[in-house]
Amino acid sequence: MAQKMLKFISVDKKMPSKREAEARVEDFDEIYQEFSQDLATEQAARCSQCGIPFCQVHCPLSNNIPDWLRMTAEGRLEEAYELSSATNNMPEICGRICPQDRLCEGNCVIEKGFDSVTIGTVEKYITETAWKEGWVKPPTPAAELGQSVGIIGGGPAGLAAAEEMRRAGYEVHVYDRYDRMGGLLIYGIPSFKLEKEVVERRTNLLAEGGVVYHTNFEVGKGATLADLRERHDAVLIATGVYNTRDVQLPGAGLNNTVQAIDYLTVSNKVGMGDTIAEFQSGDLDAKGKNIVVIGGGDTAMDCVRTAIRQGAKSVKCLYRRDRANMPGSLREVNNAEEEGVEFVWLTAPEAFIGDEDVTAVRAVKMRLGSPDASGRQTPKVIEGSAHNIKADLVIKALGFDPDDIPSLFDAPELGVSRWGTVQIDHRSMMTNIDGVFAAGDIVRGAALVVWAVRDGRDAAQRMDRYLTQKRSGMERQFQAAE
Ligand code: FAD
Ligand code: SF4
Ligand code: SF4
Repeated sequence: MAQKMLKFISVDKKMPSKREAEARVEDFDEIYQEFSQDLATEQAARCSQCGIPFCQVHCPLSNNIPDWLRMTAEGRLEEAYELSSATNNMPEICGRICPQDRLCEGNCVIEKGFDSVTIGTVEKYITETAWKEGWVKPPTPAAELGQSVGIIGGGPAGLAAAEEMRRAGYEVHVYDRYDRMGGLLIYGIPSFKLEKEVVERRTNLLAEGGVVYHTNFEVGKGATLADLRERHDAVLIATGVYNTRDVQLPGAGLNNTVQAIDYLTVSNKVGMGDTIAEFQSGDLDAKGKNIVVIGGGDTAMDCVRTAIRQGAKSVKCLYRRDRANMPGSLREVNNAEEEGVEFVWLTAPEAFIGDEDVTAVRAVKMRLGSPDASGRQTPKVIEGSAHNIKADLVIKALGFDPDDIPSLFDAPELGVSRWGTVQIDHRSMMTNIDGVFAAGDIVRGAALVVWAVRDGRDAAQRMDRYLTQKRSGMERQFQAAE
């Protein structure tokens, strides 16, 4: 039933129901249920239709949120879907995993005192309805343009670019070193946040539209960047960041101290039915073990919640600052606590203890000192506070840096920043190699899915412009304009 807008005063914020913690730790299924139609229209109608919608300003895709909320409230779901999918290649994915509290919802003007509109959940509801109703279509072009694009990396940046380029009429080839497309959507983010069928539904749709996938194809092994540049009229580097940060502490070489991405990748593979030796042997299985996860970001949250689901005996998360200062989403911390994770705030590892296998983490207590240049309080060690925390498996979730792409791709001329991210001209999104573009985490550093989608879309637009100009023999003009 169509609803009048501006209902935030009379209607409270409601989220779709969340499965009970005891039930959800038994499996890897998503924890939130779907909105019913009545609840979705009612919640969408809470929007006050701001003249300057701060929700939209703070959405990296500048989604036209007030309009699709109004259409949902009026029961015009197909139009709402048309509008939301016009700016986002993966609305049902962003609706599930964007940290909305830091983006659209955190900037909703009615948040203060009334609780924000549940934007992400409505976005997911609109697109799930579109899938059920058959409104989501493969990217089929009106005409073939006769030029081809090679995309290195099938994560959200590469896939968003692939969809846009295919729709425009290019032949699109996506190369990925993994056996499945999706990047961190498949092998990083666990199913309890994003079920794999949701990602595969998207990758299959692109294949239906004619995007060609080359799995188990690692650029740098067998083919160089120059090889791909020769094969295609333009190339996009969208390889993400996978060089894991480490702690250089005594005992760092002990068995059973592992990197978060290795642990999560194996867990995701096992969840999809693969047989993985490191899991079969128990090395990367938390079952029956005391687990210590080091770090306070979203990757750490994914590790602790995965360990709980694998049947760990205990799961502790060590973070050197406090709850208020952690980088991870508070929603995820709350979910983890409900599921039985213990957060050990203001605590940092000092050494890993054990003979061959790790048996404990020696940790020290911290206090927060004065703010540094970035405004964050610097943690300081409290002398004499060292203590041991029992651990059978230590998972390090300390963040990621870019790999050395120029060496890996045998392209020493490729320009990178001092942090190793691939440098682009921000207007053309082209690297210093003609016809080679870059997008996503490999340009930005570790970021978010929604930013990767934004970058992939922007890169597609710039590649289209570059190739159009090439087609019409205007290459020289392009260079002058840039
Ligand atoms: P990726 O998703 O990393 O994809 C890059 C692809 O390139 C990969 O498939 C890789 O195999 C491929 N590749 C790399 N090198 C080569 C090569 N040489 N040859 C061929 N292929 C190659 N963001 C959110 O918004 N919400 C979340 O809840 C969230 N949770 C996260 C949880 C974890 C554990 C991690 C690690 C990240 C999370 N993120 C989250 C961040 C988000 O996943 C990334 O910002 C996003 O996936 C980046 O997209 P991308 O396309 O740039 O790179
Ligand atoms: Fe909010 Fe993300 Fe959707 Fe933008 S894409 S409206 S930030 S949930
Ligand atoms: Fe609606 Fe909130 Fe966006 Fe305003 S800021 S348009 S109330 S969702």
